[in-house]
Amino acid sequence: MSRRRQIYEGKAKILYEGPEPGTLVQYFKDDATAFNGQKKGVITGKGVLNNRISEYVMANLGDIGVPTHFIRRLNMREQLIKQVEIIPLEVVVRNIGAGSIHKRLGVPKGDRLPRSIIEFYLKSDPLDDPMVSEEHITAFGWATPQEIDDMMSMALRINDFLSGLFIGIGIKLVDFKIEFGRLYENDEVRVILADEISPDSCRLWDVKTNEELDKDRFRQDLGRVEEAYQEVARRLGIFPEGGPRDIQGPDTLQ
Ligand code: C5P
Repeated sequence: MSRRRQIYEGKAKILYEGPEPGTLVQYFKDDATAFNGQKKGVITGKGVLNNRISEYVMANLGDIGVPTHFIRRLNMREQLIKQVEIIPLEVVVRNIGAGSIHKRLGVPKGDRLPRSIIEFYLKSDPLDDPMVSEEHITAFGWATPQEIDDMMSMALRINDFLSGLFIGIGIKLVDFKIEFGRLYENDEVRVILADEISPDSCRLWDVKTNEELDKDRFRQDLGRVEEAYQEVARRLGIFPEGGPRDIQGPDTLQ
């Protein structure tokens, strides 16, 4: 396979020029980072599983009318996506106390929140992704008031859909992070879901045991990290054929 032009390399993914204008190839790495890159590691097979999990979630969201960048999966580690202009915000939706809302506001870990809460963080490694308000977002032009409305209503629909999807397989959706992008089409701009939805970006707890089935196992050195990602894929019914051996399969990209 010929080398494609690399557009961007992030901590967990690489974007390459796509086969047609307006498309990109999103490649999922096994690399894992936490605490803004201070902790680095490899979760073997993570890229293969996240490619599948994100495909599954985005395809289903598309079916219920949430616009996403996902077009189709290409192979074990790659999917074809629509090229968008990423809005420089991380949108976090929380249902249960954990992580930074526990640290910052003392919300007890594991408590269901009075209602789902949406937070915005500025995507900035040098600033350590600070939380920002709608005032900051509109004043500095990171998104318009209409785009904020669109992101919030999609975030709540995604939360409802994902909460139901996961509860059906014995998993509590504690919180998750999503990103949006602007799609330019026929002289129009609209906001669509971009990036990925996977155990890298969600907190997923087993309903019965509260066992973490997500990247917190890596962040907190809880062990059995690979197994947690496999368990989520297995429960979703998308464990790659052949089991774990497939997960370590060779990269198809040269
Ligand atoms: O750390 P915090 O509690 O704010 O994280 C909330 C959610 O957003 C978690 O599911 C976490 O995995 C996700 N997140 C992320 N990328 C970040 C920060 C948070 O995927 N840079």
